[in-house]
Amino acid sequence: MDFFDSHCHLPPHGRHEKTAGQILKDAADAGVVGCVAIGTSICENENVLRIVKEHQNVYAAIGIYPHEDKDVALADLRQCLSAQIASCSKVVAIGECGIDVSEKENGRQIQDQINLFEMQIELAMKYHLPIIIHNRNGDNEVLALMKKYASQGLRGVAHCFSQSWEYAQQLLQCGLYISFSGMITYKARKGILETVRNAPIDRILIETDSPDLPPEGFRGQVNEPKNVFVIAQKIAYVRGMLLDDIAQKTYENAKTLFRIH
Ligand SMILES: [Zn+2]
Repeated sequence: MDFFDSHCHLPPHGRHEKTAGQILKDAADAGVVGCVAIGTSICENENVLRIVKEHQNVYAAIGIYPHEDKDVALADLRQCLSAQIASCSKVVAIGECGIDVSEKENGRQIQDQINLFEMQIELAMKYHLPIIIHNRNGDNEVLALMKKYASQGLRGVAHCFSQSWEYAQQLLQCGLYISFSGMITYKARKGILETVRNAPIDRILIETDSPDLPPEGFRGQVNEPKNVFVIAQKIAYVRGMLLDDIAQKTYENAKTLFRIH
């Protein structure tokens, strides 16, 4: 069975204990045929670009997370991202980028986050790349920008989707894909399952968001791309479909969105 992890963070990001090479080998042994390694800052993007050069079936998403590189001017970030995109043919998306309203101290204010997000949306459109959207407590801001740019051809995915089916439908109307993570396996998050059940099969992706969000059965562990099958299993169960079909459809969807051949 072939699984595609549409969103993972690889070492040295976060609290991984293995090397990227070990993690990717274990993933391949578990049927993961490819993944998108996610950048969150100029420095992390460089790491991602290094990894994708060394590993054939790993693709790069480069972007600036809402609270990263806070002291760098927007124009400079734009220039860095442009150079990084131009430096590697395996950049398949811009992200993760978006809105993150949390208790975080020293983070960007909301208007600065919107400006940073919009800059990356415009870059994505310029380079004909999809965006990978991070959204924590930013439903209105994200939707407003998606409505503004959807008609201009913006493509993208709502990563780690955890909102209501009503909200999902509005994003789907903008042409976005919806990506499900280990969150759909958590008992406390039952509300997400309506979207798992109802979203069009040709618009869903699966992801681990490794090293975070280990799926049920792996809680307390460092999450890795090899665990992505658990998310596919949950979708198959909720929709009454075969695991094989979910694996295949989400792989095809990833290839379509990221234009991987
Ligand atoms: Zn992420």
